[in-house]
Amino acid sequence: MSRFLALLLCVPLWAFAQAPAQPEAATGFAPQASVSGKRYLAATAHADGTAAARDILRQGGSAVDAAIAAQLVLNLVEPQSSGIGGGGFLLHWDGRTRELSAYDGRETAPAAASPERFRGAAFRDVVASGKSIGVPGLLAMLAEAHRRHGRLPWARLFEPAIRLAEAGFSVSPRLHALLRDDRYLRDDANARRLYYQADGAPLAVGAVLRNPAFADTLRSIALAGPAALYRGPLGVAVAAAARAAGGDLDAADLARYRARQRTPVCGNYRVWRICGMPPPSSGGVTTLQLLGILERSAFDRAPALSAQAVHWFSEAGRLAYADRNRYLGDPDYVAIPQDDMLAPGYLDRRAGLLSARKSIVTAWPGDFPAGRSRDDDDAPERPSTTHLSIVDAEGNAVALTSSIEDAFGSRKMAGGFLLNNQLTDFAFAPDAGGRLVANRVEAGKRPLSSMAPTMVFDRRGRLVAVLGSPGGPRIINYVAQTLVALLDWNMAPEAALALPHFGSRNGPTEIERERAPEGWQNELEALGHTVATVDMTSGLQIVVRQGDLWLAAVDPRREGAAAGE
Ligand code: GLU
Repeated sequence: MSRFLALLLCVPLWAFAQAPAQPEAATGFAPQASVSGKRYLAATAHADGTAAARDILRQGGSAVDAAIAAQLVLNLVEPQSSGIGGGGFLLHWDGRTRELSAYDGRETAPAAASPERFRGAAFRDVVASGKSIGVPGLLAMLAEAHRRHGRLPWARLFEPAIRLAEAGFSVSPRLHALLRDDRYLRDDANARRLYYQADGAPLAVGAVLRNPAFADTLRSIALAGPAALYRGPLGVAVAAAARAAGGDLDAADLARYRARQRTPVCGNYRVWRICGMPPPSSGGVTTLQLLGILERSAFDRAPALSAQAVHWFSEAGRLAYADRNRYLGDPDYVAIPQDDMLAPGYLDRRAGLLSARKSIVTAWPGDFPAGRSRDDDDAPERPSTTHLSIVDAEGNAVALTSSIEDAFGSRKMAGGFLLNNQLTDFAFAPDAGGRLVANRVEAGKRPLSSMAPTMVFDRRGRLVAVLGSPGGPRIINYVAQTLVALLDWNMAPEAALALPHFGSRNGPTEIERERAPEGWQNELEALGHTVATVDMTSGLQIVVRQGDLWLAAVDPRREGAAAGE
């Protein structure tokens, strides 16, 4: 047995876990050590973001306070991923009242947007155009979460990011590589001045990057609150940048924006209760469908990490993504049969379609009266988006996934930050097969997301895990796979994140390049799968309970860091 396998066979974490399964083969990353905390713990996609969260937690800040401070720093140091020019989804667990809340800070389409907006276009035609820029929702959502769950003053949460924007931060290898390879970012004069040298070369790894315009932006929001963006000169600058690039966002769209509180979507998986984000993200519903179908299959009899386990997991994914692609969208615009999609009888019927010996290859969506039309979504994974998981000393927790969509979003800057291209998450054709598509563009509507901030509770209702990831539509597979590694295979968090990825979005069965064990491909093909070997650059940040301790692990595929005390 390799040293890696020995590491995987760890002590079970879970109060109700069965005996650990024996992984047959694993060639994933070498697990990085997890970080533990007795009182609090933060795991974010960058060491500077994690340091900001830890400082705020040390000052007695709540999980939401720490998440806000970390997010503002991530906006600065991971400009490719997320920020106040974009949107996100936040789950909050109140350790005292035991109340779970879900916040929707998804971008909206401007009032001028019509269903024809992207018809006939390709992603590359519109990604760097003002047409892809939606009304940013992240800041409004963070302010709402702070109003309800914050403890420290709003302005204090801006101090770490302001300090770092002024003093400068060190360009990371990942940021450098993304700057180097980007085709559009140099075209924006502000971005070129900030991120590139005079000859067009990207700032070197380790170069100190100062962003005084962003420091000014942060100062104005620290002082005036989100109104500085939604009703102030900053908003005017955002709208002007979008319009200069052919967009139609205006100040009235910003003034109209509201973050929404939604009812979290929860379901049972074996002895656990798993909760996530409802539409307009597909994250919660599709993760729960996938797991619900898996629980009803013979997955639990397949050895951990065997090709048979990958077979059941990707078959369940096919069925879940088929429903996702047809039925999910913005619930304020389309009727979503959410309860029917998660009903035990329906999941029984869906699981009954599967066989141990043969792949279903392509799943058809279930037949619900509310359904609109077929809408395939094979959007690729982007090297952007960020996820953070935090627990505080009172037992409150935050799972926050946020995004500006593609790397560097629309590549348009205002106020020292990048604006999203999130409207490209809408279906480009508003109709298919003569019927309207649920995720078509409409004025004021939120595009369907896959972001899946997730929390797990045990039989006694105790919070036992906080997680999420970037990865476009693959996010759901990453989160579901991590859940089975933790819950079914009893893996330590760092070992779960080091596993090779697998899953299907109702296209081919995808397995991770250079990580998937030899043998998977042949065995899966023998079951009728078409196998695609691809890069699967998740960015999971997870926190799990182990007895009286919290343990955090960060994804070895990106630059995350965890810290706790
Ligand atoms: N725009 C994507 C979503 O909302 C996230 C982008 C990514 O993670 O690649 O689902």
